[in-house]
Amino acid sequence: MSLTKVKHIVLVLSGKGGVGKSSVTTQLALSLSLAGHSVGVLDVDLTGPSIPRMFGIEDAKVTQAPGGWLPITVHEADPSAGIGSLRVMSLGFLLPKRGDAVVWRGPKKTAMVRQFLTDVFWDETDYLLIDTPPGTSDEHISLAENLLQKARPGQLAGAVVVTTPQAVATADVRKELNFCQKTSIRVLGVVENMCGFVCPNCSECTNIFMSGGGEVMANDFGVRFLGRIPIDPQFLVLIETGKRPTYPAGTTVDGKDVSTPAGASAAEEVGVKDGSLLVHKYKDCSLAQIFSKITADVISAVQQ
Ligand code: ADP
Repeated sequence: MSLTKVKHIVLVLSGKGGVGKSSVTTQLALSLSLAGHSVGVLDVDLTGPSIPRMFGIEDAKVTQAPGGWLPITVHEADPSAGIGSLRVMSLGFLLPKRGDAVVWRGPKKTAMVRQFLTDVFWDETDYLLIDTPPGTSDEHISLAENLLQKARPGQLAGAVVVTTPQAVATADVRKELNFCQKTSIRVLGVVENMCGFVCPNCSECTNIFMSGGGEVMANDFGVRFLGRIPIDPQFLVLIETGKRPTYPAGTTVDGKDVSTPAGASAAEEVGVKDGSLLVHKYKDCSLAQIFSKITADVISAVQQ
Protein backbone atom coordinates (compact mmCIF):
# COMPACT_ATOMS: atom_id res chain seq x y z
CA MET A 1 0.00 0.00 0.00
CA SER A 2 0.95 3.62 -0.43
CA LEU A 3 2.48 4.14 3.01
CA THR A 4 5.01 1.31 2.62
CA LYS A 5 7.92 3.61 1.77
CA VAL A 6 7.06 6.14 4.50
CA LYS A 7 9.29 5.96 7.59
CA HIS A 8 7.45 8.21 10.06
CA ILE A 9 3.92 9.62 10.03
CA VAL A 10 3.25 12.79 12.03
CA LEU A 11 -0.25 14.21 12.46
CA VAL A 12 -0.71 17.95 12.85
CA LEU A 13 -3.78 18.67 14.98
CA SER A 14 -5.57 21.69 16.40
CA GLY A 15 -8.60 22.01 18.62
CA LYS A 16 -10.10 24.77 16.45
CA GLY A 17 -9.67 26.36 13.04
CA GLY A 18 -7.59 29.41 12.26
CA VAL A 19 -4.86 28.81 14.84
CA GLY A 20 -2.25 28.20 12.13
CA LYS A 21 -2.31 24.41 11.79
CA SER A 22 -1.66 24.51 8.03
CA SER A 23 1.05 27.16 8.43
CA VAL A 24 2.75 25.00 11.04
CA THR A 25 2.46 21.92 8.79
CA THR A 26 3.97 23.93 5.92
CA GLN A 27 6.85 25.24 8.00
CA LEU A 28 7.59 21.86 9.57
CA ALA A 29 7.73 20.45 6.04
CA LEU A 30 10.08 23.19 4.79
CA SER A 31 12.23 22.90 7.88
CA LEU A 32 12.49 19.09 7.67
CA SER A 33 13.42 19.43 4.01
CA LEU A 34 16.09 22.04 4.89
CA ALA A 35 17.46 19.51 7.40
CA GLY A 36 17.92 17.07 4.49
CA HIS A 37 14.89 14.81 5.01
CA SER A 38 12.50 13.67 2.29
CA VAL A 39 9.04 14.98 3.20
CA GLY A 40 5.46 14.35 2.17
CA VAL A 41 2.46 16.44 3.16
CA LEU A 42 -1.00 14.89 3.03
CA ASP A 43 -3.80 17.44 3.43
CA VAL A 44 -7.02 15.83 4.62
CA ASP A 45 -8.51 19.05 6.00
CA LEU A 46 -11.88 18.68 4.33
CA THR A 47 -13.15 21.86 6.01
CA GLY A 48 -11.12 23.97 3.58
CA PRO A 49 -7.86 22.52 2.28
CA SER A 50 -5.29 25.33 2.37
CA ILE A 51 -2.07 23.39 1.82
CA PRO A 52 -1.98 23.93 -2.01
CA ARG A 53 -2.13 27.72 -1.43
CA MET A 54 0.62 27.55 1.21
CA PHE A 55 3.00 25.90 -1.27
CA GLY A 56 1.90 28.07 -4.21
CA ILE A 57 0.70 25.02 -6.18
CA GLU A 58 -3.03 25.70 -6.39
CA ASP A 59 -3.13 25.11 -10.11
CA ALA A 60 -1.18 21.86 -10.01
CA LYS A 61 -2.81 18.89 -11.66
CA VAL A 62 -2.66 15.56 -9.90
CA THR A 63 -1.72 12.62 -12.07
CA GLN A 64 -3.72 9.44 -11.75
CA ALA A 65 -1.64 6.28 -11.97
CA PRO A 66 -3.08 2.76 -12.01
CA GLY A 67 -4.51 2.27 -8.53
CA GLY A 68 -3.84 5.72 -7.16
CA TRP A 69 -2.60 9.29 -7.38
CA LEU A 70 0.90 10.70 -7.70
CA PRO A 71 1.62 13.55 -5.27
CA ILE A 72 2.72 16.96 -6.56
CA THR A 73 6.45 17.68 -6.32
CA VAL A 74 7.13 21.05 -4.66
CA HIS A 75 10.87 20.51 -5.12
CA GLU A 76 13.22 17.60 -5.74
CA ALA A 77 16.02 16.70 -3.35
CA ASP A 78 19.21 18.74 -3.76
CA PRO A 79 21.90 16.74 -1.93
CA SER A 80 24.59 19.34 -2.70
CA ALA A 81 22.54 21.93 -0.77
CA GLY A 82 21.53 19.41 1.92
CA ILE A 83 17.85 19.71 0.96
CA GLY A 84 15.41 16.80 0.91
CA SER A 85 12.54 16.38 -1.54
CA LEU A 86 9.07 17.76 -0.77
CA ARG A 87 5.83 16.32 -2.17
CA VAL A 88 2.24 17.25 -1.46
CA MET A 89 -1.15 15.65 -1.88
CA SER A 90 -4.28 17.55 -0.98
CA LEU A 91 -7.95 17.02 -1.22
CA GLY A 92 -7.94 20.55 -2.63
CA PHE A 93 -6.49 19.20 -5.90
CA LEU A 94 -9.58 17.09 -6.42
CA LEU A 95 -12.19 19.76 -5.74
CA PRO A 96 -13.88 21.30 -8.78
CA LYS A 97 -13.51 24.82 -7.36
CA ARG A 98 -10.31 25.43 -5.45
CA GLY A 99 -10.82 26.81 -1.95
CA ASP A 100 -14.19 25.08 -1.59
CA ALA A 101 -14.87 23.31 1.66
CA VAL A 102 -16.17 19.80 1.24
CA VAL A 103 -19.82 19.41 2.15
CA TRP A 104 -19.94 15.63 1.90
CA ARG A 105 -21.67 13.68 4.59
CA GLY A 106 -19.82 11.59 7.17
CA PRO A 107 -19.56 8.22 5.35
CA LYS A 108 -18.31 9.82 2.13
CA LYS A 109 -15.71 11.80 4.06
CA THR A 110 -14.58 8.68 5.87
CA ALA A 111 -14.26 6.81 2.57
CA MET A 112 -12.25 9.68 1.08
CA VAL A 113 -9.88 9.81 4.03
CA ARG A 114 -9.38 6.05 3.78
CA GLN A 115 -8.70 6.33 0.06
CA PHE A 116 -6.23 9.14 0.67
CA LEU A 117 -4.29 6.98 3.08
CA THR A 118 -4.09 4.01 0.75
CA ASP A 119 -4.16 5.41 -2.78
CA VAL A 120 -1.39 8.01 -2.91
CA PHE A 121 1.95 6.72 -4.15
CA TRP A 122 4.55 8.09 -1.76
CA ASP A 123 8.10 7.38 -2.82
CA GLU A 124 10.86 6.96 -0.19
CA THR A 125 9.68 9.47 2.45
CA ASP A 126 11.33 10.12 5.82
CA TYR A 127 8.43 12.14 7.24
CA LEU A 128 4.81 12.22 6.10
CA LEU A 129 2.97 15.13 7.76
CA ILE A 130 -0.81 14.84 7.79
CA ASP A 131 -2.72 18.12 8.03
CA THR A 132 -6.02 17.17 9.65
CA PRO A 133 -9.33 19.03 9.97
CA PRO A 134 -9.63 21.10 13.18
CA GLY A 135 -11.37 19.55 16.17
CA THR A 136 -12.16 16.06 17.30
CA SER A 137 -14.75 15.30 14.63
CA ASP A 138 -15.76 12.13 12.76
CA GLU A 139 -12.93 12.71 10.29
CA HIS A 140 -10.42 12.61 13.11
CA ILE A 141 -11.80 9.47 14.59
CA SER A 142 -11.89 7.67 11.24
CA LEU A 143 -8.43 8.97 10.35
CA ALA A 144 -7.04 7.79 13.68
CA GLU A 145 -8.74 4.40 13.34
CA ASN A 146 -7.51 3.97 9.77
CA LEU A 147 -3.98 4.96 10.61
CA LEU A 148 -3.83 2.72 13.61
CA GLN A 149 -5.05 -0.16 11.42
CA LYS A 150 -2.95 0.53 8.34
CA ALA A 151 0.32 1.83 9.72
CA ARG A 152 3.11 -0.55 10.64
CA PRO A 153 3.86 -0.75 14.35
CA GLY A 154 5.73 2.43 15.25
CA GLN A 155 5.12 4.08 11.85
CA LEU A 156 2.61 6.55 13.29
CA ALA A 157 5.12 8.54 15.31
CA GLY A 158 2.54 10.80 16.93
CA ALA A 159 0.96 14.24 16.77
CA VAL A 160 2.05 17.86 16.93
CA VAL A 161 -0.74 19.91 18.53
CA VAL A 162 -1.04 23.56 17.49
CA THR A 163 -2.65 26.20 19.64
CA THR A 164 -2.66 29.97 20.19
CA PRO A 165 -2.62 32.01 23.41
CA GLN A 166 -6.38 32.60 23.07
CA ALA A 167 -7.22 28.99 22.22
CA VAL A 168 -5.37 27.81 25.32
CA ALA A 169 -7.97 29.72 27.34
CA THR A 170 -10.73 27.58 25.77
CA ALA A 171 -11.37 23.88 26.19
CA ASP A 172 -10.58 23.08 22.51
CA VAL A 173 -6.94 22.22 22.80
CA ARG A 174 -7.49 20.21 25.98
CA LYS A 175 -10.14 18.22 24.06
CA GLU A 176 -7.54 17.56 21.36
CA LEU A 177 -5.02 16.30 23.91
CA ASN A 178 -7.70 14.10 25.50
CA PHE A 179 -8.57 12.80 22.01
CA CYS A 180 -4.93 11.73 21.56
CA GLN A 181 -4.95 9.99 24.91
CA LYS A 182 -8.19 8.15 24.06
CA THR A 183 -7.00 7.07 20.60
CA SER A 184 -3.51 6.16 21.93
CA ILE A 185 -1.80 8.65 19.64
CA ARG A 186 1.41 9.90 21.21
CA VAL A 187 1.69 13.70 21.51
CA LEU A 188 5.11 14.70 20.19
CA GLY A 189 4.60 18.22 21.50
CA VAL A 190 2.58 21.43 21.60
CA VAL A 191 3.34 24.52 19.49
CA GLU A 192 1.92 27.90 20.54
CA ASN A 193 1.38 30.01 17.43
CA MET A 194 0.67 33.74 17.11
CA CYS A 195 2.52 34.72 20.30
CA GLY A 196 3.64 38.28 19.65
CA PHE A 197 4.07 40.19 16.42
CA VAL A 198 7.15 40.88 14.30
CA CYS A 199 6.49 44.52 13.39
CA PRO A 200 7.46 45.19 9.77
CA ASN A 201 8.17 48.86 10.51
CA CYS A 202 9.83 49.19 13.85
CA SER A 203 12.01 46.09 14.37
CA GLU A 204 10.12 45.25 17.58
CA CYS A 205 8.56 41.88 18.36
CA THR A 206 5.56 42.85 20.49
CA ASN A 207 3.53 40.52 22.68
CA ILE A 208 -0.11 41.28 21.91
CA PHE A 209 -1.69 38.51 23.92
CA MET A 210 -0.55 36.94 27.14
CA SER A 211 1.60 33.99 26.20
CA GLY A 212 2.94 31.10 28.22
CA GLY A 213 -0.41 29.29 28.61
CA GLY A 214 0.57 26.66 26.05
CA GLU A 215 3.61 25.71 28.05
CA VAL A 216 1.63 25.47 31.30
CA MET A 217 -0.97 23.31 29.57
CA ALA A 218 1.69 21.06 28.01
CA ASN A 219 3.19 20.60 31.49
CA ASP A 220 -0.27 19.76 32.91
CA PHE A 221 -0.62 16.99 30.33
CA GLY A 222 2.97 15.83 30.73
CA VAL A 223 3.80 16.53 27.06
CA ARG A 224 6.69 18.40 25.47
CA PHE A 225 6.35 22.15 24.78
CA LEU A 226 7.95 22.75 21.38
CA GLY A 227 7.94 26.55 21.28
CA ARG A 228 6.24 29.87 20.64
CA ILE A 229 5.85 31.39 17.18
CA PRO A 230 5.14 35.09 16.62
CA ILE A 231 2.88 36.45 13.86
CA ASP A 232 5.22 37.51 11.08
CA PRO A 233 3.51 39.45 8.27
CA GLN A 234 6.55 38.66 6.09
CA PHE A 235 5.61 34.97 6.25
CA LEU A 236 2.17 35.88 4.89
CA VAL A 237 3.74 38.01 2.14
CA LEU A 238 6.00 35.09 1.20
CA ILE A 239 3.04 32.71 0.97
CA GLU A 240 0.66 35.10 -0.76
CA THR A 241 3.05 36.75 -3.22
CA GLY A 242 6.24 34.67 -3.30
CA LYS A 243 8.30 37.68 -2.16
CA ARG A 244 11.43 36.96 -0.15
CA PRO A 245 11.06 38.16 3.48
CA THR A 246 12.95 41.34 4.43
CA TYR A 247 13.32 43.04 7.82
CA PRO A 248 14.44 46.52 8.90
CA ALA A 249 17.85 46.90 10.52
CA GLY A 250 17.92 45.75 14.13
CA THR A 251 14.94 43.34 13.93
CA THR A 252 15.42 40.72 16.62
CA VAL A 253 13.24 37.62 16.86
CA ASP A 254 13.76 34.95 19.50
CA GLY A 255 17.01 36.63 20.51
CA LYS A 256 18.50 36.60 17.01
CA ASP A 257 19.09 39.52 14.66
CA VAL A 258 17.14 38.73 11.49
CA SER A 259 17.54 42.09 9.72
CA THR A 260 18.10 41.94 5.98
CA PRO A 261 21.83 42.34 5.25
CA ALA A 262 22.78 45.68 3.72
CA GLY A 263 24.38 43.84 0.80
CA ALA A 264 21.10 42.22 -0.33
CA SER A 265 20.23 42.95 -3.94
CA ALA A 266 17.97 45.91 -4.71
CA ALA A 267 15.26 43.49 -5.79
CA GLU A 268 15.40 41.70 -2.45
CA GLU A 269 15.41 44.94 -0.49
CA VAL A 270 12.10 46.00 -1.95
CA GLY A 271 10.77 42.46 -1.67
CA VAL A 272 10.28 41.90 -5.39
CA LYS A 273 9.07 38.43 -6.33
CA ASP A 274 11.97 36.28 -7.45
CA GLY A 275 11.95 32.88 -9.04
CA SER A 276 13.83 30.97 -6.31
CA LEU A 277 12.29 27.95 -4.67
CA LEU A 278 10.02 28.56 -1.68
CA VAL A 279 12.38 26.51 0.50
CA HIS A 280 15.28 28.89 -0.26
CA LYS A 281 13.22 32.04 0.31
CA TYR A 282 11.83 30.61 3.54
CA LYS A 283 15.39 30.51 4.96
CA ASP A 284 15.21 34.34 5.08
CA CYS A 285 11.97 34.30 7.11
CA SER A 286 12.33 35.13 10.82
CA LEU A 287 10.23 32.05 11.62
CA ALA A 288 12.68 29.65 9.92
CA GLN A 289 15.18 29.74 12.80
CA ILE A 290 12.36 29.08 15.33
CA PHE A 291 11.13 26.16 13.24
CA SER A 292 14.57 24.66 12.88
CA LYS A 293 14.64 24.25 16.70
CA ILE A 294 11.06 22.93 16.78
CA THR A 295 11.89 20.48 13.99
CA ALA A 296 14.98 19.22 15.81
CA ASP A 297 12.80 18.60 18.89
CA VAL A 298 10.14 16.81 16.82
CA ILE A 299 12.80 14.58 15.25
CA SER A 300 14.23 13.73 18.65
CA ALA A 301 10.71 12.99 19.99
CA VAL A 302 10.01 10.74 16.99
CA GLN A 303 13.23 8.84 17.56
CA GLN A 304 12.63 8.26 21.27
P1 ADP B 1 -5.56 26.72 10.26
O1 ADP B 1 -4.90 25.71 9.39
O2 ADP B 1 -5.38 26.43 11.72
O3 ADP B 1 -6.99 27.00 9.91
P2 ADP B 1 -3.84 28.61 8.87
O4 ADP B 1 -2.51 27.97 8.98
O5 ADP B 1 -4.56 28.53 7.56
O6 ADP B 1 -4.80 28.11 10.05
O7 ADP B 1 -3.65 30.12 9.34
C1 ADP B 1 -4.66 31.11 9.20
C2 ADP B 1 -4.03 32.35 8.55
O8 ADP B 1 -3.08 32.93 9.45
C3 ADP B 1 -3.28 32.04 7.26
O9 ADP B 1 -3.46 33.10 6.36
C4 ADP B 1 -1.83 31.95 7.71
O10 ADP B 1 -0.89 32.23 6.67
C5 ADP B 1 -1.79 32.99 8.83
N1 ADP B 1 -0.79 32.67 9.86
C6 ADP B 1 -0.81 31.61 10.70
N2 ADP B 1 0.26 31.65 11.53
C7 ADP B 1 0.97 32.76 11.20
C8 ADP B 1 2.17 33.38 11.70
N3 ADP B 1 2.86 32.86 12.73
N4 ADP B 1 2.59 34.54 11.12
C9 ADP B 1 1.89 35.08 10.10
N5 ADP B 1 0.77 34.56 9.58
C10 ADP B 1 0.30 33.41 10.13
